[in-house]
Amino acid sequence: MPELPEVETTRRGIERSARGRHIMEFRIYEHRLRWPIDRSVAQHLSGQQIVAVERRAKYLLLRLSGGTLILHLGMSGNLRLLPQDAPLIKHDHFDLYLDSGTTLRFNDPRRFGSLHYTTADPSEHKLLRSLAPEPFEKAFDADYLNRITRRRSAAVKQVLMNGQLVTGVGNIYASEALFRARINPRRAARKLTRAECTRLVRAVRAALQAAIKAGGTTLRDYVGTDGNPGYFRQKLYVYERDGKPCRVCATLIRKIAQGQRSTYYCPHCQH
Ligand SMILES: [Zn+2]
Repeated sequence: MPELPEVETTRRGIERSARGRHIMEFRIYEHRLRWPIDRSVAQHLSGQQIVAVERRAKYLLLRLSGGTLILHLGMSGNLRLLPQDAPLIKHDHFDLYLDSGTTLRFNDPRRFGSLHYTTADPSEHKLLRSLAPEPFEKAFDADYLNRITRRRSAAVKQVLMNGQLVTGVGNIYASEALFRARINPRRAARKLTRAECTRLVRAVRAALQAAIKAGGTTLRDYVGTDGNPGYFRQKLYVYERDGKPCRVCATLIRKIAQGQRSTYYCPHCQH
């Protein structure tokens, strides 16, 4: 699943090439995504300029001269910048033809992605208005983490991945952040000390930032905007490294199941 770093990487790639461009045509091949694309959107998009490309959690916001496109990559989606005559392949669902001779093409095998258009303030859109703070926002600080963990006996990893409390921390970066903060993923959230909350906030940001910096991703079916798969796996500390030596202490990394997801940690470094 594209996690926040992949979405941010996509945002940067698109912003570089598409900002300032005008949309010539919007073509839908399959409108049945997670929510059906409103076909009437097409008539509103032609001629609009892409003013900015922003991100809110895992949503990409294409700010246009007269409205905003809100795009989610879902479980398996990618948005690529291609020449307009690039042949369509399976699971290509729409094209945004630009006046640069390129197109922004959305491909999503599992069709959990979505596309909405609004002329109102996008932060008031039903998909965005109740999103929890994301790690790069000021609101996500040690005070906040301390507050949301006080009465929760769930494991700290589960709390980090609870989208109603923090948005944009998926399975990979929850494991990586807990390693960086030296916190055992099974610890009850309410047992975190204030100092550990501070460490964890920094660690979450650092883990995501490192992934963004590497341009990428750990994901098999993710393709960056330039069409190249971005691989970041070799830089990970614990994720999918079970049975391999910890990069810090050489103890073997363990894998456990938490809430149907795999968690990886170092039993020596993380307490
Ligand atoms: Zn270790």
